[in-house]
Amino acid sequence: MKTIYLDNNATTRVADEVFEAIRPFFSELYGNPSSMHSFGGNVAREVAVARSSMAELLGASPQEIVFTSGGTESDSTAILSALNTLPERREIVTTRVEHPAVLNLCKYLARSKGYTVRWLSVDKFGMLDMDEVKKSISENTAIVSIMWANNETGVIFPVEEISEIAASRGALMHTDAVQAVGKIPINLDRTNINFLSLSGHKLHAPKGIGALYIKKGTRFSPFMIGGHQEFSRRGGTENVPGIVGLGCAARVAMKNFEEENTRVKQMRDRLQTGLLERVSQARVNGHTDFRLPNTLNIGFEFVEGEAILLRMDDKGICASSGSACTSGSLEPSHVLRAMGVPFTAVHGSIRFSLSRYNTEDEIEFVIEETPKIIMVLRALSPFNLATINAACAVQ
Ligand SMILES: *Cc1c(COP(=O)(O)O)cnc(C)c1O
Repeated sequence: MKTIYLDNNATTRVADEVFEAIRPFFSELYGNPSSMHSFGGNVAREVAVARSSMAELLGASPQEIVFTSGGTESDSTAILSALNTLPERREIVTTRVEHPAVLNLCKYLARSKGYTVRWLSVDKFGMLDMDEVKKSISENTAIVSIMWANNETGVIFPVEEISEIAASRGALMHTDAVQAVGKIPINLDRTNINFLSLSGHKLHAPKGIGALYIKKGTRFSPFMIGGHQEFSRRGGTENVPGIVGLGCAARVAMKNFEEENTRVKQMRDRLQTGLLERVSQARVNGHTDFRLPNTLNIGFEFVEGEAILLRMDDKGICASSGSACTSGSLEPSHVLRAMGVPFTAVHGSIRFSLSRYNTEDEIEFVIEETPKIIMVLRALSPFNLATINAACAVQ
C-alpha cells in the first residue's frame, strides 16, 4: 500500500538533493572544520557555504546564523540568553498556543526560577489581540517569544509588527519560526526580531539539526558552553552532515519558492473544499487567510480523532489529531482549547499538513476516503465524552 504523507508539520522527508549533498560527509569528507590542515579546512568551507544559504533564505547575514541541534535547542538558547543578558527584567511575554519547546520552558521558568509569564490569549480564529500584546509588553519584559506560525492550525502571527513594540520597550524579541521557514517569505533584514528559531527536519533536512538567527548587535549568552565553534556562540564539534544538509535544504526551498508554495496551497485548498463539501458538521480550525499554505486543521464534530486516524492509517493516509489519548486521559490540544473550539469538535480535529512532495491524485484519494471514514464512525458510536474517557482508561 502506498503511503500518503500529510503530516509534514510533524516532520518531513529529506529531499533527494539534501541526501546527495550529505552523503560524502559521512565517508571521505570527515574532517573537523576546526582543524589546521586543509582536510579539515575543506569541510569548514562547506559549513560556510551552508551558513550563507541559510542566511539568504532568512534575509540575514551569515554571521547571524548559529547552527544548533534543532528547534528546541534554538528556542531554549534564545529565551535563556535574553534572561541572562537582561537580568533586571523578570517578565516573559508569550502566547498560550506555543509549541511545547517554548510553552514548557516558560512554565518551568515561572515555576522554578520565579519569572512572571504573561500568557497572551487567542480568539476563535487563533489570532492575537494586538491591544493585549501592547499592554503586556513593558519595561519589565526581558523577552517576547511569539511563534511565527502555529504548528497545529498554521495560523500566522504578525511577529514583525510585534518586534517593533518589543524594541520600543527595550525588550528582546524571539520567534519560533520552525513552521514558517520555507513556507512563507521571511526577510529579517528589516525587522526588530532579535532571535529566530528553525529546525531542519521541518524543512526537508535531517532530524537533529537546526539554526538560531541572532540579530547583529544583540547581546548573547551561550547555552552550550565549550569550544570556540560557531563564533564562540555554541560549543561542540559541528554536526557537519546536518549543517551541509540544512544549507542544501535552504537552497531547495529558495528554488521556485513562490511556485512550489502556491502549488501546495492549491492542493490544500482543494482538500479543504472537498472535505467541507462532503462532510456535514465540519469546520476549519484557525483563520483561513492568515495561515500557512500547507496546513489544514478540520474539526469533525461528534467523532473521535484517534479513531479517524486509525482508519485513515488503514488506507495509508498519515495525518495527526487535535487530541492525544496519553497517560490514561484524553488531553485535548492546548491550541484548540485556547481558541475555544467546542469539545465536540476538538476531539474530532484532524491536522493535514502537506508538502511539495504531495500530488493532486493523493489529495483526491483523501477527499474520497475521509468522508466514508467519518460516516462509518458517526454511525457506529454516538459521540459522548464518557465513552472516550472510558476507552482511554482501559488502555
Ligand atoms: C517541531 C517544532 C519544534 C521543535 O523542533 P525540533 O527540531 O524537533 O526540536 C519547535 N517549534 C515548532 C513550532 C515546531 O513545529
